[in-house]
Amino acid sequence: MCGIIGYTGPLEAKDVLLKGLAGLEYRGYDSAGIAYFNQDSQVRSIKKVGKVAALRECVKSTCEISHCGIGHTRWATHGGVTDANAHPHSCGQVTLIHNGIIENYAKLKKVLEKKGYEFVSETDTEVLAHLLSEYYNGNPAETIQKVMQRVEGSYALGIMFLDHPNHIYAARKDSPLIVGASKEGNLIASDVPAILRYTRNVYYMENEELVCLSREHIRFYNIDGEPLEKTPVTIEWD
Ligand code: GLU
Repeated sequence: MCGIIGYTGPLEAKDVLLKGLAGLEYRGYDSAGIAYFNQDSQVRSIKKVGKVAALRECVKSTCEISHCGIGHTRWATHGGVTDANAHPHSCGQVTLIHNGIIENYAKLKKVLEKKGYEFVSETDTEVLAHLLSEYYNGNPAETIQKVMQRVEGSYALGIMFLDHPNHIYAARKDSPLIVGASKEGNLIASDVPAILRYTRNVYYMENEELVCLSREHIRFYNIDGEPLEKTPVTIEWD
């Protein structure tokens, strides 16, 4: 079922992401990748077929500093197991990771191709990057809500917008997603083992909910953009 991790906070984000992905390896996957904001607020992506250990070797060669990023382990459903099909996927301001299946991707892809969007992977996921980019109006939450209303299928999403450095946006429908709140920053993940070394305070996302994370805050919304009050659960097990 593959996995998702995201982190924003004072720690080195690449390190948190790689440790988080290692904590999700039990779910099975064929490739792995991360994207992060570097110290110049540019987004860098590194992705590779194979194990998290292989990705870690690639990441080692960069000396960039990062305090915000997203990470993914992929279980290919649409498109072969290749570096190009591995996540993250990007378009314009948008970089994202996705677990799940976009059922109406073929229809959306046709529309987007007609508008001139060029696809570089064979995945269903890439339509989300282009669709978000097409709708983007400077307001990430509003844009994601529009896309959620347009897509059919299952998703847990982690999204970064180039013009909102050190923020992570996440949404889910029929794929698992949790949010972790810690003194050392805030996190998203598919499952608790990915974040247990940082926090035991966890929010469970429900279907069609959206969250915005920065180092200081966690804000939840429903698909109509209304703010939600959610109560954290304390994880008691190790
Ligand atoms: N359907 C997407 C793909 O094939 C995501 C698969 C996953 O959940 O990892 O890339």
